[in-house]
Amino acid sequence: MKVLVLNSGSSSLKYQLFDMAERTLVARGAAERIGEPDSDISDHAAALDRIVANLLGIEVAMARRPDVPQVAVFDTAFHHTIPPHAYRYAVPEEWYESHGVRRYGFHGTSVAYVAKQAAREIGRPLGELNLIVLHLGNGASVTAVANGKSVDTSMGMTPLEGLVMGTRSGDIDPGVIVHMARQAGMSVEEIDADLNGESGLSGLCGVGDVRDVLEREAAGDARARLALDVYAYRMRKYIGAYMAALGHVDGIVFTAGVGENSADIRERACEGLQRLGVQLDETRNRASARGARPIHREGAPVAVLVVPTNEELEIAEQTLQCIQTSGAATTEAGRQNG
Ligand code: ADP
Repeated sequence: MKVLVLNSGSSSLKYQLFDMAERTLVARGAAERIGEPDSDISDHAAALDRIVANLLGIEVAMARRPDVPQVAVFDTAFHHTIPPHAYRYAVPEEWYESHGVRRYGFHGTSVAYVAKQAAREIGRPLGELNLIVLHLGNGASVTAVANGKSVDTSMGMTPLEGLVMGTRSGDIDPGVIVHMARQAGMSVEEIDADLNGESGLSGLCGVGDVRDVLEREAAGDARARLALDVYAYRMRKYIGAYMAALGHVDGIVFTAGVGENSADIRERACEGLQRLGVQLDETRNRASARGARPIHREGAPVAVLVVPTNEELEIAEQTLQCIQTSGAATTEAGRQNG
């Protein structure tokens, strides 16, 4: 069976085609920087058009094969195990009952994947492990995993809450929103656009891409330095909070663009946590290795791991599972045989 995965991010649309017999990648591609000023791809529809045009030669192009079972994998699904004390906000009951105001969380597909890989790396069943997973991409979140299940996560009802991100603020006092509406006369739309698109690292120092911020800091830019201080301090606060939430932590896992590639940011995120058992091995952390790997000091109480994420493979795995349990595979297999 082949599974085509379309992964639609905020500014990108990636696709991968898997042959699930051997879990091999048959084809992959992406349209990135969708809608950005210097991009020739105006929106996701245009990006999808392009990718579908690229897929014309591929047998299973989704748009052309309505008979192929299609499965939606929700990025929030892994977080359905979060208990009410962690997903409820202390706001009027009516907001929750009538408007669904609660924490949902995001990056679930990625966290599910890297947690499994981390368990393999640690050499114990995931169901016995407590992990803190930092998914650090353009969007960024931290998830507390207890006995293999999500029990809290930093993104909330929307992806705006939690860590400082490329262009999103993460946590702020909700009173600030009221203040900016009343005091600066901003509209809800303007505040929303600023908090999602003009804040985070970009708000603090003018650029949102971590590589650019690091470069500016190295060149002596004080705003870039402050931006990274705020960014890393927020991570340490969440790691500490989730250590308290979990009571015992077996491993801290770094993933996604920044988590996988920046030894610098990993070091700053773990700074000062030595006495809590988080002890990096500088050589391991700095090694230019690929693949899942430990970066903690030998014998440290808490494992620290870098685990490359693979959201598309996880989506394909979940799709296969869904199709097999729903019986749709029987139809598909029958059709292929006949
Ligand atoms: P997305 O959320 O769009 O999928 P990614 O997971 O690709 O994002 O992460 C993008 C982020 O990773 C950017 O901020 C980029 O600067 C950062 N990044 C990628 N490589 C490196 C690196 N070698 N050092 C520091 N940051 C990096």
